[in-house]
Amino acid sequence: MPTVIIAGGAGYIGSHMVRLAQDRGYQAVVVDNLATGHADAVHPNAILRVGDIGDAAFMAPLLREFQPRCVMHFAAASLVGESMTDPAKYWRNNLVQTLSLLDTMRACGVNQFIFSSTAAVYGDPQQVPMTEAHRRLPINPYGQSKLAVENALADYDQAYGLRYTTLRYFNAAGAHPDGSLGERHEPETHLIPLVLQVASGRRKEIGRFGKDFDTQDGSCVRDYVHVQDLAAAHLLALQRLEAGGASAIYNLGNGEGHSVTEVIDAARRVTGHGIPVRDDPRRAGDPPVLVADATRARSDLGWQPQHPDIDTIIAHAWQWEQKAQRRLEAPAVAPQSALV
Ligand code: UDP
Repeated sequence: MPTVIIAGGAGYIGSHMVRLAQDRGYQAVVVDNLATGHADAVHPNAILRVGDIGDAAFMAPLLREFQPRCVMHFAAASLVGESMTDPAKYWRNNLVQTLSLLDTMRACGVNQFIFSSTAAVYGDPQQVPMTEAHRRLPINPYGQSKLAVENALADYDQAYGLRYTTLRYFNAAGAHPDGSLGERHEPETHLIPLVLQVASGRRKEIGRFGKDFDTQDGSCVRDYVHVQDLAAAHLLALQRLEAGGASAIYNLGNGEGHSVTEVIDAARRVTGHGIPVRDDPRRAGDPPVLVADATRARSDLGWQPQHPDIDTIIAHAWQWEQKAQRRLEAPAVAPQSALV
């Protein structure tokens, strides 16, 4: 059974990747420090090792033990807003830790890498949709830290023969269609889960960050891509690297933008609940529009998103939110000792 290391495999996107890798005949070895991930999100047949990707004393023996085909790297801090107020966290977690991981991989002879990057590397759009050649001028430390790794990867390929695939995600969203996996950030900051927490009654209203952007209705436009489709793209990227494919960079998005207001309307449609909206100021670091041209991923990788429709993406996330809501409402089970 070929082995892949999945760094951040206890997180939102990583846990979906672990499931898919296991289903497709790979042994997934999850490396996660569980700072934000959840051990119970890891597929039962995957191997979980708890530690930091940047800790060579932890990573080197593990890489030598498992001799993976490839390392997939999902372990990162990924909040645009937080990156504006705590940039040190982003530079340390996303750049310093990743460079350390790459150096440990070099020392252990592992030379295939799949990197989770982001549309935030582009900054304000010069044209929409954006191809991979679009100017990279990030406007927040999150995007800066990811771009710095992208640049390092190009140098590592040239000098050390590292073969990598960089996947620039637009907005990851949705949940596993069978309801078993989904987004569990604490605190939650992402639009779709927050909107659904309003629908389920966990929150009173959703704050809409900005109504004065230069977009059709004044709110920010994003390209929401289903988390299962992201995982599928990683699998294709892995197969391409295994077949000897050269390093490459791909956008992953559906090529269709939805404004914040449209997302809220879609959530009202899907859930049947009214969702009160409060207008808040813009969030620092947000470009007005991010929409992907993912032609290259489709043609090179044969990537075909299975769930491009925003209502389906929200329906899967809603199923997950309802499950979370049921967990919260379930009466706490009294510990054994209390029954005596
Ligand atoms: N957003 C919002 N209210 C919220 C959270 C997010 O209006 O409570 C907006 C945010 O400004 C952005 C879009 O929703 O335009 C998507 O934000 P999210 O944090 O989900 O993802 P990001 O684009 O930061 O990766």
